[in-house]
Amino acid sequence: MQFSSIIGQESLKQQLIQSVANKRVPHAIMLLGQEGSGHLSLAVAFAQYLNCENRVVGENTNNGVDRMDGDSCGECSSCVKSEKLIHPDIHFVYPVTSTKIKKPKSADFIQEWRKEFANNPYQNVQDWIETIESDNKQGNISADECREIIRMLNFKTFESIYKVVIIWMPELLGKEGNILLKSLEEPPDNTVFILVANNEEQILNTILSRVQIIKVPRLKDEEIIFQLENKQGVTVKEAHAIARQVDGNFNEALKLAKNSEDDNEKLYLLFLRICLKGSHEGKTLIDFCEKVNTDLGRENMKGLLRYGLDLMREVFVLEHIGEAKARLTENELKLAQYMNQRLSFQSKEEIIKRLEESCFHLERNANPKILFMNLGIFLSHLLKRNEVVLT
Ligand SMILES: [Zn+2]
Repeated sequence: MQFSSIIGQESLKQQLIQSVANKRVPHAIMLLGQEGSGHLSLAVAFAQYLNCENRVVGENTNNGVDRMDGDSCGECSSCVKSEKLIHPDIHFVYPVTSTKIKKPKSADFIQEWRKEFANNPYQNVQDWIETIESDNKQGNISADECREIIRMLNFKTFESIYKVVIIWMPELLGKEGNILLKSLEEPPDNTVFILVANNEEQILNTILSRVQIIKVPRLKDEEIIFQLENKQGVTVKEAHAIARQVDGNFNEALKLAKNSEDDNEKLYLLFLRICLKGSHEGKTLIDFCEKVNTDLGRENMKGLLRYGLDLMREVFVLEHIGEAKARLTENELKLAQYMNQRLSFQSKEEIIKRLEESCFHLERNANPKILFMNLGIFLSHLLKRNEVVLT
């Protein structure tokens, strides 16, 4: 992961980059911030930067506050491995549970860890434990794990200058953490410990006194809004509402955005079913238009239409590039496959044009009930003409 793909935290990125330029990389740091601030991402990006073969130091322009120039290259063999979390000199330690494996260590769950980090680098410990645990057990970092870290520190680095150990959630180390004290205080040369923590009060004092604490501030509302709007396709109004609720926690913001995406999916699929069959579960097109008019604000109506447009784009991706690249849920995939089987290229283009026109008119204060009714009648004719079967 490169620094550039992390939301905000510009002055902190600069601070880490400058520590390398000034040859003052601390041997043990703790990135301390609230959940969803991006501290785990920062740790991963710093590890990649330390071992990048072509890292860019960058100019400290604008006092390093608003602008970030330095970064790892993202292309050298070290970066490629770091991006996939398979670099042999970057080690990850995180809480695990003993339901599936007796005496488990982080390495036993490395595949899941890589997958979950790629999915959402802002995840919290509950999200992580849910992916590896079926039995409601709490995760922890065991004494065996600590001994494993010490054993691993005895080896030379495989291919890079720095050996990096990222310990996520040291709160769950318990008193076993004392096993690590000597290593934290005097690690072998070119070893860097990066602890990533949420809550200082739950960490052993003996550990706190041996690391350099770097506070990671909460994300600003405008950073969350920008990200939701531009990268997650959330409407402006909704992005503002979400940012207000989450108080700088991007993990929470993603979850709320996902819920509204799920709502759009359900509502849009209901719309299509009604268009095709005349009614679905007793609801007619008139009922649907009434519901949209009373339940959704204008921004959410636009969100629903944009969802329809995004779905059509994915229908094209599915047909021309393939399933692997199409971002579709199970229900959407079924629908998209049917559409591709039954609708001509021209019909699909007609749908897109009509959805775009509807968005345009909605923004100019068209009557929503009439607008959705017109769109429904149009889709109804087009789908029936082509006999799309909706399951
Ligand atoms: Zn590189």
